[in-house]
Amino acid sequence: MALIVQKFGGTSVGTVERIEQVAEKVKKFREGGDDIVVVVSAMSGETNRLIDLAKQISEQPVPRELDVMVSTGEQVTIALLAMALIKRGVPAVSYTGNQVRILTDSAHNKARILQIDDQKIRADLKAGRVVVVAGFQGVDEHGNITTLGRGGSDTTGVALAAALKADECQIYTDVDGVYTTDPRVVPQAQRLDKITFEEMLEMASLGSKVLQIRSVEFAGKYNVPLRVLHSFQEGPGTLITLDEEESMEQPIISGIAFNRDEAKLTIRGVPDIPGVAFKILGPISAANIEVDMIVQNVAHDNTTDFTFTVHRNDYQNAQRVLEQTASELGAREVIGDTKIAKVSIVGVGMRSHAGVASRMFEALAKETINIQMISTSEIKVSVVIEEKYLELAVRALHTAFELDAPSRQGE
Ligand code: ADP
Ligand code: ASP
Ligand code: MG
Repeated sequence: MALIVQKFGGTSVGTVERIEQVAEKVKKFREGGDDIVVVVSAMSGETNRLIDLAKQISEQPVPRELDVMVSTGEQVTIALLAMALIKRGVPAVSYTGNQVRILTDSAHNKARILQIDDQKIRADLKAGRVVVVAGFQGVDEHGNITTLGRGGSDTTGVALAAALKADECQIYTDVDGVYTTDPRVVPQAQRLDKITFEEMLEMASLGSKVLQIRSVEFAGKYNVPLRVLHSFQEGPGTLITLDEEESMEQPIISGIAFNRDEAKLTIRGVPDIPGVAFKILGPISAANIEVDMIVQNVAHDNTTDFTFTVHRNDYQNAQRVLEQTASELGAREVIGDTKIAKVSIVGVGMRSHAGVASRMFEALAKETINIQMISTSEIKVSVVIEEKYLELAVRALHTAFELDAPSRQGE
């Protein structure tokens, strides 16, 4: 008998009918003899609705109170699913994060799970019950409700699977696996049978929201077998695995990720002297703003331009800090741009192939897309481009790296 943790995302529990469908599915698994722990998200749109409500009171709601509120979305779905199971004769019980005791740190709105108490869950499983746990939420050591950041139910699922030493963590969603890129942007995208943790980590951190990045970190760290599947269609889904198959057939690029969440800031005409990067970025980091990409131009007349990107939510804050630095350093000006996007190619196959970046640049050049910034690591290349070219760039790269599904024309 296996122990399986199944997580169902927002669209999969978006209506009462869907919740009934999920209950049917869980019932079938249960009849197969497995122990099941189910993690659910809030109904689709609900978390956004709650955040909007809070913003009607205050543009920047108090983080603790925001958590008290947004955590209610999941409390509704756990109860509905437990009711739907019980109605079908399947013994079930629902728990909030606090009731399980999913202990987190106190970083409201982006808390990290520290420890999970498995006692109650184990006792319920032993008594033959399906346990339904609220995703996305926990409680800190002082008893405050916390949430894990957008998409956090994935992390609840994987963390529970790790704590219970489950045989598999299944993430059920509205696509039938992890694709070479977001299938909503590139219809020719293909489902991957397998992807390595390392690649999935890059894809998630570079913008593919199919799995929350922390869930992948957890799965890698505790070696949780993790699979992404469609909630209502049969199929093998995508397995996130540890092993990198050394096959000649292995594609150089496994996937393309993108995001529109960043903004760019440039400080122009700063003196080109030692310590200047620190003088610029020190105050930014002191303001708790994370910097992603950085470029410093070659100096002319002993002055240089310095450019970096931050999350769009931090843009105004970063601009204010940078204006201050600019006047202290006697820089010429600060300019900003929020209409940028980052596109990245990801693949462990890059390690053994040269010229991957230039192939990427060539494909973008053919579409006359200008590259504003570049950053590389062993298994990824990212570029910043003008936002309006994002979809064109993703499609061009998907084709250039031969990821398109074979055409079905004439079938
Ligand atoms: P859930 O509500 O089930 O958590 P999400 O909306 O968070 O679902 O994640 C699923 C979505 O992720 C898909 O509908 C798809 O548009 C998007 N997505 C982005 N990149 C990928 C990718 N590489 N493969 C599959 N889906 C992707
Ligand atoms: N409901 C939360 C969100 O929308 C968590 C989740 O769905 O994973 O971000
Ligand atoms: Mg999600």
